[in-house]
Amino acid sequence: MKEKISQPSSLPPLQSFLQPEDLKSHNEIYDKASLIVQTTNKCTKNCPGCYLTESLKNKKEELDQERYRECISKLKEGSLITLRGGEITMIRDWFEKFVVPALDKNLKIIIESNGYFIEKQDYQDILKKINDNKISIRISFDQEHIRNSKDITSEFKKMARFAEDAKNTGINFGFYSLGMDGTQIQNFVKGTLLEPYIDKFHSLTFYPKISSVKIKGQYLKSNGNLSDDIKV
Ligand code: SF4
Repeated sequence: MKEKISQPSSLPPLQSFLQPEDLKSHNEIYDKASLIVQTTNKCTKNCPGCYLTESLKNKKEELDQERYRECISKLKEGSLITLRGGEITMIRDWFEKFVVPALDKNLKIIIESNGYFIEKQDYQDILKKINDNKISIRISFDQEHIRNSKDITSEFKKMARFAEDAKNTGINFGFYSLGMDGTQIQNFVKGTLLEPYIDKFHSLTFYPKISSVKIKGQYLKSNGNLSDDIKV
């Protein structure tokens, strides 16, 4: 059960910050992606309520390169794929292994990350690499993602650093908050370093049973299995 966030009565409605289209839930990946790729079931976090909870307890897997290339070879140019984990950016050479082959195929790519790469040694290099109009990056950031953090202020600082860098360099990016509506997101960022980037936040619907969500394309799991629904 997710914790409800109380709303101070003095706050203006979120509509004053965001366009109506931004207030809709942004789960459109499931309607639009031709392939959703679980690059790994490993993760740097252990968020309560993660749909991978069971999978994270299993043997740690990284998707085989040949299998990945075989699956994307069947996609038409311009198709949309989503690269997710676990946490993709904890894989060594993740960009070369998963993003470059998709770029070579002229695919559109959404990278989903918990922001692990931010301020790591190769951070500047990653910023340059993801600055491509075929790539957009979605950073998962919400109450659940910081619940186990010992230093919440640093988490906001890290995300704000990325937001500033990404905005200044023209990277397509957004923050995606699972299970939080517009008002909850507003309360979450109000008074933090992320407040100037409220227009980059989007709400994601929380599905208690992810495997029953209808998807347009297919799901490629880190063990190499391809399916018509999301397997956990
Ligand atoms: S960061 Fe994402 S994949 Fe990792 S534990 Fe949290 S919800 Fe799960």
